[in-house]
Amino acid sequence: MMNLIRKAAAGLTKRFPPRGIILMYHRIAKADLDPWGLCVSPRHFAEHLEAIKRHFHPLSLHDLCEQCRDGTLPDRSIVLTFDDGYADNLHTAKPLLEQYRVPATIFLVADILRDTRHFWWDELEWALLQPGTLPAGLELNTNIKSQTWQLGDAIRYNMQERRGDRNRKPWEASPGTRLAFFYSVWKHLVLLPKRERAEALDTIRRWAGIDSGSRDETRALHPDEAAVLCQGGLISLGAHTVTHPSLPLLSSASQLDEIQESKTQLENFLNRPVTSFAYPHGDYSAETAALVQKSGFQCACTTQSECVSSGADPFQLPRFQVEDWDGAEFLNRLLRKTM
Ligand SMILES: [Zn+2]
Repeated sequence: MMNLIRKAAAGLTKRFPPRGIILMYHRIAKADLDPWGLCVSPRHFAEHLEAIKRHFHPLSLHDLCEQCRDGTLPDRSIVLTFDDGYADNLHTAKPLLEQYRVPATIFLVADILRDTRHFWWDELEWALLQPGTLPAGLELNTNIKSQTWQLGDAIRYNMQERRGDRNRKPWEASPGTRLAFFYSVWKHLVLLPKRERAEALDTIRRWAGIDSGSRDETRALHPDEAAVLCQGGLISLGAHTVTHPSLPLLSSASQLDEIQESKTQLENFLNRPVTSFAYPHGDYSAETAALVQKSGFQCACTTQSECVSSGADPFQLPRFQVEDWDGAEFLNRLLRKTM
């Protein structure tokens, strides 16, 4: 493993251009099914940090923004970010970040400070991707839209199919499979406002015979845990809207409300300025970026997989999503992306 890392690093020394990298993580945890690729195991995360300490210059997002603006961004700069606000960010990621002295920014969905204990996409996965049998048809009716699904063979789902779905993305699922059904319902829910989505999830849970929020390992941070994250000064918090909508689908007024409210709620909670933002789902338009700037943020992160250079638009900072790679693959991928 270390030989592979050294070999990759030799190439890095010769070919790495004067650009920086912003990484996007979500959860540091082991998961047997992870349809959105959100989990990096603690062991792999430690290997990432080892590679970062050996071959890169870890910076805070704030410092990277300043150095981009001033044209002083050093070679091999790297910034770590986490989206959403999972509890494992405190219990698993923070101790490792402290061990390696690597700073990070965590973008919180502000609703976790109020009533969100589980994110809706995890609740949906819990309801629809458990081995077992579901009823033949699902109907969701809200005042926004209605849709029905006939499950066909997807009513049954066993451990073998679940294991097979481990490395399959939902949008690559074969039609008629449980994973394809899950993705179709996800696409329905992602477009709903918070209240209608909560109603639809209640319907789905009752229909599937599942209790709400029974998995501690996928829960969001409690407010008192979010406060502990910042202790020690290595981790800073950024905003990620209030309810995690796709912002460009909303009216200008609703976008502004989501953006400004998340800033206000977080600032009131932390009693300090919150200056960075991340677009939920990576979705934004020129108008969204302008609204984030107008709301008083200093920078905003996208999910565009590119390196960042001096002079980059601070409201369209690109980021690479990190998956559950070991240290050698992590470093190789960083190398390839920066060539
Ligand atoms: Zn998010």
